[in-house]
Amino acid sequence: MTAPLLDLRGVTALYGASQALFGVDLRVDAGGVTALMGRNGMGKTTTIRTICGLLPNRAGEIFLDGHEVSGLAPHRIARMGVGLVPEGRRCFAPLTVRENLIAAARPGPWDMTRVTGLFPRLGERMGQRAGTLSGGEQQMLAIGRALMTNPRLLILDEATEGLAPTVRAEIWAAIAALRRDAGLGILLVDKSLKELGGVADRGVILDKGRTVWAGSMSTLDAALAARWLGV
Ligand code: ATP
Repeated sequence: MTAPLLDLRGVTALYGASQALFGVDLRVDAGGVTALMGRNGMGKTTTIRTICGLLPNRAGEIFLDGHEVSGLAPHRIARMGVGLVPEGRRCFAPLTVRENLIAAARPGPWDMTRVTGLFPRLGERMGQRAGTLSGGEQQMLAIGRALMTNPRLLILDEATEGLAPTVRAEIWAAIAALRRDAGLGILLVDKSLKELGGVADRGVILDKGRTVWAGSMSTLDAALAARWLGV
């Protein structure tokens, strides 16, 4: 069996004295998509912050391609191939779309041509300042920036939050296209179970900072969803 691209075992994290993660286990395979689920405040964003080194992992292990990354600085983890699209689609507002993309670029198959192929709207707005884009376009730019770093693991935190249905559909179509990119593993947080079920092969559910369920998305039934997700 090949080692997972990302493997969390018993990850624990605190905000000051307040413990947020009590033992998170999750796995993303190369070329696979894992959905990270749970009700509000259960630790999804905290898990992502801990993977990226933005919050220390106090116990447990985080392996990226078999290498322990706990304790490394965020920029080093990013350079090892972790591309984050954070909640709130942060881009550099005064910079143009082109400048935002160039600033993120690292060598690899993902370049300006490929990103604008995935999101043609970005190609039409290359000279426009990011701050003047619509919410959906800013989200596309945030994903484009993460892809320009040529990650092996792409992490999307609530990528469709607050967007109009047509734009959400465009983002989901792009994620489905990325899924066919064999080299890339994806970790996805989203509130729409239906959409997650369409793209994710594995799922993990967090409750109060712990993994309470992990398995194939096809085995996530209505009883589990009602119990842990309240849907
Ligand atoms: P949501 O779906 O609402 O974004 P989430 O599952 O991503 O929720 P987290 O944001 O990871 O949940 O929050 C997990 C816990 O950590 C919550 O109890 C939250 O109140 C707490 N928490 C989050 N950020 C901070 C912070 N900066 N300082 C202190 N506590 C925090």
